Amino acid sequence: MAEEKVFYGIPVSPGIASGKIFVFDHEDDTVVERDITEEEIPLEIVKLENALIETRREITEIKKKIAESIGLSHAEIFSAHLLVLEDRTFLEEIIKEVEANKKSVDFVFQSIMEKYIRAFSEIEDEYLKERMSDIQDVGKRVLHHLMGKKRKDLSTLEEEVVVVAFDLSPSDTALMHKDNVIGFATDIGGKTSHTAIMARSIGIPAVVGLHNISQKVKTGEEAIIDGNKGIVYISPSEETRRIYTDKKFQFLDYERHLESVKDLPAETKDGKVFTLYANIEIPEDIPSIISHGARGIGLYRTEFIYMNRTDLPSEEEQYIAYRKAAEAMHPKSVVIRTMDMGGDKFLSHLQLPKEMNPFLGWRAIRFCLARPDIFKIQLKAILRASEFGNVKLMYPMISGINEIKQSNEILEEAKAELKKEGRAFDEKIPVGAMVEIPSAALTADIMARYVAFFSIGTNDLIQYSLAVDRVNEKIAYLYDPAHPAVLRLIKYIIDTGHKAGIPVSMCGQMAGDPASVVFLVGMEIDELSMSPFSIPEVKLLIRNMEFAEMKKAVEEAMTLETPEEINALANRYVEKYLPEIFQYRF
Ligand code: PEP
Ligand code: MG
Repeated sequence: MAEEKVFYGIPVSPGIASGKIFVFDHEDDTVVERDITEEEIPLEIVKLENALIETRREITEIKKKIAESIGLSHAEIFSAHLLVLEDRTFLEEIIKEVEANKKSVDFVFQSIMEKYIRAFSEIEDEYLKERMSDIQDVGKRVLHHLMGKKRKDLSTLEEEVVVVAFDLSPSDTALMHKDNVIGFATDIGGKTSHTAIMARSIGIPAVVGLHNISQKVKTGEEAIIDGNKGIVYISPSEETRRIYTDKKFQFLDYERHLESVKDLPAETKDGKVFTLYANIEIPEDIPSIISHGARGIGLYRTEFIYMNRTDLPSEEEQYIAYRKAAEAMHPKSVVIRTMDMGGDKFLSHLQLPKEMNPFLGWRAIRFCLARPDIFKIQLKAILRASEFGNVKLMYPMISGINEIKQSNEILEEAKAELKKEGRAFDEKIPVGAMVEIPSAALTADIMARYVAFFSIGTNDLIQYSLAVDRVNEKIAYLYDPAHPAVLRLIKYIIDTGHKAGIPVSMCGQMAGDPASVVFLVGMEIDELSMSPFSIPEVKLLIRNMEFAEMKKAVEEAMTLETPEEINALANRYVEKYLPEIFQYRF
C-alpha cells in the first residue's frame, strides 16, 4: 500500500471530504511546430477566427450559467475574459506572424501567449498577475479550439472526486457541482481569492497554498481534505482514515448542534448579551448571512464592486447593490465601509504607481481623499441606500481626526448634491471609523469625539502594531492575535470608546476566532462581525460562557508576558466551554 503523504496549506472553506483524486488540467497542450505554405495562410486565419467565435460562445454560456446559479457579480469576471478576446494588438500580432513566418496558427498563438505570460510574470503587481490568469484561462480555451481538442471541464465529471490542481480559475470553480466535486486542493491561492470565495458560496471543503501538491499526486489516488485545519492527506493510512471517519461524523454532529443555536441570542450564562454580525464582500453573500443567524452586516467590504472590471461602478450601480443589502437586512443594521483599495487589493482599471510598501501607502481613505470625485460617487450611493434600511457608514484606515474631518466634508457635499437632486436619504446616518492603525488606537479618546462608533480591524491592527506584513508567509509565525501588545491595544480601544459613550465592535478575523472571543467577551466588546460560517460557533461558545469568569480571564491575560502563555490561557477556556471544537480541529 502507498505511503501516506501530508500537505499543509491554507484552509479557505470548512468541512472534511474524502475520496478519489482528479488531477485537473494536466493535459498535454504541447503544440508541434509546423510550417505552412503561402496558400494555407488564409485557412489558418479562418481557423483562428473560428476558434475565437467558439471561445466567445463558450465563455458567454458560462457567464450566463453562473449569473443564474451563483449571481451576477461572479459572472462579471467573465466580462474581463471576453475583453481578452477583443485585444486587437494581440490578434494582429498573431496574424502578422503567421503571414511572415509561415507557421501554423496554433504554434504561433502558443508562442505569443507564452511571451505575454513571461512578460507579465516578471511584473510584481497583484492586478497584472490577476490579468495574467485571465489571459491564461482564455488562451487555453482558444488553443484547444485551434487544436480541435475538447477542453475538460469540471461540470462533466461523472463520479465524486476531490479536485487537485495547480490553480483553479474562477471559471473552473464556478462549473463545479457539489454532487461531483466534494472538495478541492490547489498549489497556490489565498483566503481572499475568487476561487476561495466561490468554494465558500458552493459550500465545499477547500485548502489552497499547498505549494506543489498537483505535481505530487495522481488521478485515482485517495485523499482526505481537511478544510477546517488546512491539511490534505494523500493515500491516508488506516489510522488517519479511522481518525477522519470519526472527525467527519463529529463535525456533522457538531454542525447539527450549531444549527440548533444559530437563531438564539449570543448571551452568556449569566445574562450578558453580545451582537454577532456578518462580514460580506458581495450582495450574493446575503442569503448565507441570514441562514447563519447574523443580526446584521457589521462590515460590507465595498471595494469588491470596483474589482474585475474595466470601468468604475456608477452611483446607480452601487446604489442598487447597497440598497439590496439594506432592504434584505432591514430592520437589522448594515455597516457599509467605503472603498478600501490598495495594500493587497487593486482596482482593475486604475493604473496606480507601484509602491515599495503598499500596505503603508496610498490605500483606502488616503486614496479616496485624493480622488474626491470617485469618493463622492460612492458616498452618494450609500446615502441613497440609507433610505431603505438601517445603514451606517464607516471609513477605513483612519490614522487621525483630520481624515475624519476631511471625509465628513465630502460627505456633506454629497448630501447637499442629493438634496439639490431631490433625492431622499437618512440625514442622521451614523458615521464610524475603523480603528486599525496604532495611531488611531492610541488616540481613541480624541477620535471618539468625532464618530458614532468604532470598529476594530484586527487584520490590519496586528500587521501595523507588530510590523508583520499580513500576506507574507515567511513571517506569518509572528502574526499573533495573542501578542500582549495586541490585547493591550484592543482593551484600550474598547475601554476608551465606552468611556466616551460610543459602541465598539470588531470586524477583523479575530472576531470569529474562539480563542480570541474568550478575551473579547471579558473586555465587553459590544459587537463582533465575522464570516457567516463562524457565527453559530461563536454563538455556542458565548452561550456556554460565564461573563464574570471571562472578565477574570482578561485580568489574568493582562499580567502574562508572552503570546504562548496567553494562547494557553485562552485554549483552556475554549476547551472548557466548547470541547467539541477540539475533537475536529486539534
Ligand atoms: C481588518 O483590517 O481587520 C479589516 C476588517 O479590514 P480588511 O481585512 O478589509 O483590511
Ligand atoms: Mg483593514
